[in-house]
Amino acid sequence: MLQQTPVARVLPTWRAWMNRWPTPADLAASPTSEVIRAWDRLGYPRRAIRLHRAAQVIVADHGGFVPSDLDALLSLPGVGEYTAGAVRAFAFDIPALTLDTNVRRVLARYLQGQALPTGQVTRAERELTWSIMPADGATKWMAGLMELGALVCTAKKPDCNHCPLVTNCAWVAAGSPPPVQPPRRQPQYVGSDRQARGHILAMLRNDVEALDLNTVRAGSDYVWADEAQAERALSGLASDGLINLRNDGKYCLPN
Ligand code: SF4
Repeated sequence: MLQQTPVARVLPTWRAWMNRWPTPADLAASPTSEVIRAWDRLGYPRRAIRLHRAAQVIVADHGGFVPSDLDALLSLPGVGEYTAGAVRAFAFDIPALTLDTNVRRVLARYLQGQALPTGQVTRAERELTWSIMPADGATKWMAGLMELGALVCTAKKPDCNHCPLVTNCAWVAAGSPPPVQPPRRQPQYVGSDRQARGHILAMLRNDVEALDLNTVRAGSDYVWADEAQAERALSGLASDGLINLRNDGKYCLPN
């Protein structure tokens, strides 16, 4: 849930979710339509489908318990390098990399004097982080870096005067130079395909049992004027497994 979504937005949904489905087996047994409804407006709803499928694999292949083995975690739907590392570190206390945006920014500044990390996580970054990770307390160290990046070494206004790393920080020593590349701007949401998909899915979650292109165009709060975009949204949602095409030509949430 936390992939690309801030903690404050995730918390209410996460609490409701964990009350309803406290174990992977509970989630695995639920219909997909209920999982999509419970995801509500968290965004990027493919994550709900993957979480549901991951729960089913955990039940089928791991006796209902989240595995700690790296390869087993990586084979779960929706779990990549970062999530696998975070689960190993924070659920099992196994030394693991959790190179999220915040950690990467702290390390880029402190070790390399760069305002912001660039592009994807590199092999050099992984090796460097492993080389400085303490043998004892690795998990706490990693969590500390995450917190430092989230609260002190922030992207726009790092509070260097209150940072425990300031004495040896390469970025501060270099005079706090600006980023080499300007930070990537988020694509606009309003009018985007993502917004169209969100509207259509919200109709199916809350208002109608099934719909087609005519329903999307016709009178409701969720009217989507751009027909080509609505069509793209419907076929994209269907290929992601978020909606199913019925025999009558209408789309509904999957069972
Ligand atoms: S001193 Fe400033 S730039 Fe360096 S790690 Fe701390 S907050 Fe970040």
